[in-house]
Amino acid sequence: MNDLRSLTIEELETFIKELGEPKYRAHQVFSWIHKGAHFDEMLNLPKTLRSKLAEVSHIGRLEILNVQESKTDGTKKFLFGLEDGDAVEAVFMKYKYGNSICISSQAGCRMGCKFCASTRNGLSRNLTAGEMLSQVLEAISETGEPIGHIVVMGTGEPFDNYENLSKFLKLVHCEEGLNISNRNITVSTCGIVPKIYEFSKDHPKVNLAISLHAATDEKRSAMMPINNKYPIEEIMKAVKHYTEESGRRITFEYTMVSGVNDGDDDLALLKTLLKGKLCHVNLIPLNKVEGTGFDPASRKRAEEFCAQLENSGIPATVRRELGSDIDAACGQLRLKSKAR
Ligand code: SAH
Repeated sequence: MNDLRSLTIEELETFIKELGEPKYRAHQVFSWIHKGAHFDEMLNLPKTLRSKLAEVSHIGRLEILNVQESKTDGTKKFLFGLEDGDAVEAVFMKYKYGNSICISSQAGCRMGCKFCASTRNGLSRNLTAGEMLSQVLEAISETGEPIGHIVVMGTGEPFDNYENLSKFLKLVHCEEGLNISNRNITVSTCGIVPKIYEFSKDHPKVNLAISLHAATDEKRSAMMPINNKYPIEEIMKAVKHYTEESGRRITFEYTMVSGVNDGDDDLALLKTLLKGKLCHVNLIPLNKVEGTGFDPASRKRAEEFCAQLENSGIPATVRRELGSDIDAACGQLRLKSKAR
């Protein structure tokens, strides 16, 4: 049955027309859905239409299986149950500039990054656009707070689920829905090069973050197998294309692993690679995932890296650690739930 949360306004118009109803009803239904309403709450629709909709379609829901709330900063980590029994995570965060949510794009992941918990059991399946949207809607409803920023940085590789991601980006940007500005949305990729080109064409106003984590192919391939397919040079070409198309600065994420990518030589290579590029480096001390054999670099080391990059004219920040008193590393909650 049609999940109405996955439909664009145009698709909803077609669907409503097929039911013999006027076009404006589609707009009413769309705006209700994006307010998180059930059919019986759509009060400006005739009761007959509400029951007809309930008969021939449904509004996808996520079940809240678990919420962990940080005592220190209001971060909330959700474990959502999907309708087929799988589970995904999302994290609600409070910043000075407003509330933000980090959502998952897949149940599991097949990219195989060595330090990451999300990829441990491989990929279960892609999430639909509606399931990505639902993470935002359920978090708004559970917290009772508005959300103005979205980062697609939870479990999964968004560019390995490009069609659904693209639809989701259109849905949340829609004026009659959440109306979230493209500049407040960031998509993070491990570097699937052909999709960076597509994204530059389809969503030039949306921010792009690249998980770099190392400045040489040898090192990067050892941490991230996808680098064997799309090496650093190809990523850099694609990134140049994105910055030219969008005029936007790109973010490079650099997760700092002790003794692996946090040496002075690593820093020197990183500076050479990024010098003069329209970019920003986000340094993230690794979240330790048991069994990976990787340990975090110290916050002090991350701050040293940051200062040295800045000295070379490369803008950098050390990511603020939110929710450090709850399971912060992405994929950990889901892994635990799978152990049930
Ligand atoms: N697949 C996408 C988005 C999801 S991962 C990507 O690779 O960008 C979001 C970010 O968290 C990525 O930069 C990823 O490399 C990083 N990450 C994964 N596991 C981590 C861990 N244990 N500690 C710190 N960062 C981690």
